[in-house]
Amino acid sequence: MKKHTKEILALLDEHYGKEYVCYLSHENAWQLLIATILSAQCTDARVNIVTEKLFQKYRSPADFAAADLHELEQDIHSTGFYHNKAKNIIACCKSLCENYGGEVPQTLEELTSLAGVGRKTANVIRGNIFHEPSIVVDTHVKRISNKLGLVSGDDPVKLEFDLMKELPKEHWIRYNIQIIRLGREICKAPVPKCEECFLAGHCPSYQPKGQAEKKTAKEGSARRRTGKQGQASL
Ligand code: SF4
Repeated sequence: MKKHTKEILALLDEHYGKEYVCYLSHENAWQLLIATILSAQCTDARVNIVTEKLFQKYRSPADFAAADLHELEQDIHSTGFYHNKAKNIIACCKSLCENYGGEVPQTLEELTSLAGVGRKTANVIRGNIFHEPSIVVDTHVKRISNKLGLVSGDDPVKLEFDLMKELPKEHWIRYNIQIIRLGREICKAPVPKCEECFLAGHCPSYQPKGQAEKKTAKEGSARRRTGKQGQASL
């Protein structure tokens, strides 16, 4: 492992600890699976508000498999992209009931064969439920891993493989948990609080106060001139 990586991981452990934390409320594997499908393009806080009622109404994968599409769309409306999410949740739960006895499977191949489940969702399940070393490349991990110079690029699958090479296995699950916290509290988009960051001395993207704001304003006006919109988060 490179010295740069080792120092960053040590500081992340020191500041955020080594505990596993899941930001999506759930009591079992299928609830986490549905919550993760709902979390696409939505905040964890919003998903948790929605699932609190949702999991009282639908109490098993079989309940979701038998759900009325229009009614489920209304139930999850505020998470956005509700038509696709509702369709995927019903199809996913039908497959859980028909092919896996109502249980959530463990392998990446089985998980990604389910409707609405990509590598990111599959890795959330593998890490949180089965404690299989896995790296979840969400919007925070993508952005901040690049800033820290641990990897470079935009493609989530390539980043996942590059991070697997760069980070020791025992850090894979908690790296995501730590980076989410860093992204929410300090390394915020579009303007990171570099002055407050405990990684400042190790980060090639460190910017003194004022410069990050100027850079963001400049990028904003360049985007307006070319008519390009900012990239949506994952
Ligand atoms: S120094 Fe700035 S850019 Fe680097 S991780 Fe910290 S907040 Fe993000």
